[in-house]
Order: sequence, then C-alpha cells, then structure tokens
Amino acid sequence: MHAEIIAVGTEILLGQIVNTNSAFLADKLADLGVNVFYQTVVGDNESRMLETIEIASKRNDLVILSGGLGPTEDDLTKQMVAKFLNEKLVENKDAMLKIENHFAQTGRKMTENNKLQALYIEGSVPIKNHAGMAVGDFYKGAACDFLLLPGPPNELKTMFNKEVEELLKQTYNLNSHLESKVLRFFGIGESKLVTELEDIINAQTNPTIAPYAKTNEVTLRITASATEGKSAEKLIGEMETNVLNRVGNYFYGYGDDNSLQNVVVTELIKNNLSISAAESLTAGLFQSTLAEVAGVSKVYPGGFVTYANAVKSDVLGIPTETIKKHGVVSESIAKQMAIQTQDKMKTDIAISFTGVAGPDELEGQKAGTVWIGLAFKDNPVVAKQFHFAGNRETIRQRSVLSGLKWIFD
Ligand code: ATP
Ligand code: MG
Repeated sequence: MHAEIIAVGTEILLGQIVNTNSAFLADKLADLGVNVFYQTVVGDNESRMLETIEIASKRNDLVILSGGLGPTEDDLTKQMVAKFLNEKLVENKDAMLKIENHFAQTGRKMTENNKLQALYIEGSVPIKNHAGMAVGDFYKGAACDFLLLPGPPNELKTMFNKEVEELLKQTYNLNSHLESKVLRFFGIGESKLVTELEDIINAQTNPTIAPYAKTNEVTLRITASATEGKSAEKLIGEMETNVLNRVGNYFYGYGDDNSLQNVVVTELIKNNLSISAAESLTAGLFQSTLAEVAGVSKVYPGGFVTYANAVKSDVLGIPTETIKKHGVVSESIAKQMAIQTQDKMKTDIAISFTGVAGPDELEGQKAGTVWIGLAFKDNPVVAKQFHFAGNRETIRQRSVLSGLKWIFD
C-alpha cells in the first residue's frame, strides 16, 4: 500500500506558508503502515494540477490532496480531480444545509460560489468537515484512489482524526494493531542517544525505534504490532524499559505534543508545590516559558527579573560587596538569588539564573557559563554550573530548559 501526498497552493510554492499538512499526513500514514513514496507541491493552476494528478495516479494506490476545496476562484482541487476522472460534481445535502444555516445565522448573504463547498465527486464518499464548510472526498478508482482534504490545518487534522483514519483502516484493512509511543529526552543529543542505543537500534524489527532530533531535545518513537504471543503494548513496554535503563536520566515525558514545561507544571500542580524565579541572563524567559502552560497560576505567583547588579541588590537584597567579592556569575550569587526569592515570594521552590549569554565574556568567564540556583522547601540551597555552546538565543533557551529539567529530577 503506497501513497502520494499532493499539497495544493501557490502560497506553499512561494514559501509564504509552511507545508505542515503534508508533514501531519505523512506521520499519520506511517503510523497506519501506509508508505508515502512521494510528496508533491503544486500551485493553483489547472494544467499543472491535472498533470500532477495524472502522474500521481500512475505511481500510487492512493493519492491524497490537501487544499483548494474552498469557495474562491483559485480553489480548483475538486474540479480538477473530477475532470481527470471524468466524473460530475454533485451536491452533498448535509453540507449544503450546514452552509445555508451558517449564512442564515451570521446574517450574511450566501453567494453562488459558497455552494461549491458542498460539492463532491459523484460516486465517491463525502467526508464530514467538523471544523469548516468544505466537504472532503474519498473516491475509489479502478487503478488508484483519491482522498481530498481541506487546506486549513485545523480542518484537515480534525477531518483526518475523526473521519479519515477509520475510513482508511476499514477500506484497506490496515493493521490496526500497530501502536506507537513517543519518549522525550532533554540534555542528550541525537548522536549520543543513537550511540547509547546502537545495538538495540541495529537489532530492531518489532518494535522498531526511530529517533528524531528536535530543537533542544530528542524524541524516540517506539512502534510495534501485536504478535501471536504478545500485545503491541507489551512489546512497547519491554522496549521502553530497555531504553530507559540506558538513557533514563535524560527522559522527561511522553507524547508528540508534550513539552518540558508542561510536564514540570503538571507535576507541580499534582504535588501542590509553588514556584518562583529570579532571572538574570534569561531575563524572564523561564517564567514566560512556565506561563505557556494553562493552569500555571495555581503554582506560580510571580518572580523577578534582575538583570543589572544594582537590581539584584535593591530588589533581592544581595549586598553589593557580596556580588563584588564572588562575581555575579557564581555559585554564591545563584544561591543568594534563589534564597532571597524563596523568602520574598514565599514559595516551596525558587530557581535562579545567572550567567554569560554572550557573545562577549563577562568577568573573565566565557559565554555559555551559567549558574542555576535551586531552593527547595527547607533543604539547603544548591547551585549547579553549566557550560552551554551556541549563540545567545541557544544559551538562554538551554538555561531555561536545564532549569526545568533540574526541577523535574
Ligand atoms: P478555504 O476554504 O479556507 O479556502 P481550502 O481547502 O480551499 O480552504 P486553501 O485555500 O488551499 O484551502 O488553503 C487555505 C489556507 O489553509 C491557506 O491560506 C493556508 O493558511 C492553509 N494551508 C493550505 N495548505 C496548507 C498546507 N499544505 N500546510 C499548511 N497550511 C496550509
Ligand atoms: Mg481556498
């Protein structure tokens, strides 16, 4: 079973929008065991679309098109596929009703071209659009099948998850025992992870494991299909144990859409632990990252951005002499910042960041030298030194993520 994904839209060709639809679909299809052999992008142009459709139909079992199902003149996908197949476009009653209701409710006048969104190819299965107006389409052809999906990513994803996945499983009898699990790691690069797991990776058959490098982290997808003796979950579980025995120190969570801040905030809420921060080199980035997570207000009352030394003294109360004596990028100041913050904010945890974001040295210390301080309840305050490579942005980001990982540990 192999497929081609065609993303339709001149704005993709021009680089004005990033083709996330193809990435989403390719990932989903891989999970279903469908091999994607080609990904194509074509502009909103009749003859080039027809040409692309024709080529794709010859080399695939299934051709999936995204985009161009809307009501405007440059939306041509349905028309071109119908033309290629020599089929008519017919009206889907449910979709038409939905469009009419939408216009009635919003008090706007419906124009002729809005009706286009309710059309589908005769002889195909219309697919319900839960997030928009344009109906999708699944056509079973003699040589090759066509699946037409809307362009807006939320519409495409919803349609795929709610309608298409099951339709494909049933139509092609896809292996629904195939399961996968994503493990997320921070603080280890992809090459080191692969080296640590080399023999496991080389020996993989079922489950398979696939590492991906993301910005500042690595994920590992474990995929398995049930065998006669074992369920997919059990096979995945065994592989996970194997993997975590080797690189468990770097592991922080599961799932495609997860993040370190998400995991940390969830844990803090679960354990009813409040947190505050004092940030020098990160200048609020840590707190801003925490605040990306909904519900953080339960555990985070606020904190400090203390960039200049004078502010560390005036706001946090660290004596100027102490800063002069130890240097601002030091264990002592990191600890002081954490203690003072914990004291002032009355939180269970206080974390501090002081360091050299670069590009220039500071107090004779190289860019990338960072101290993170951590005060946890009544335990003695601790501080750790880190050395990060990279530019300012990377150093500040890594500092934040290392702080989050430290709290998680
Ligand atoms: P509409 O009814 O909104 O016109 P449509 O099905 O006709 O939807 P397009 O007109 O091709 O789809 O695209 C609508 C919008 O969806 C684009 O402006 C773009 O923001 C987004 N989009 C389209 N294709 C992709 C893609 N491959 N990846 C990411 N976003 C896309
Ligand atoms: Mg459109």
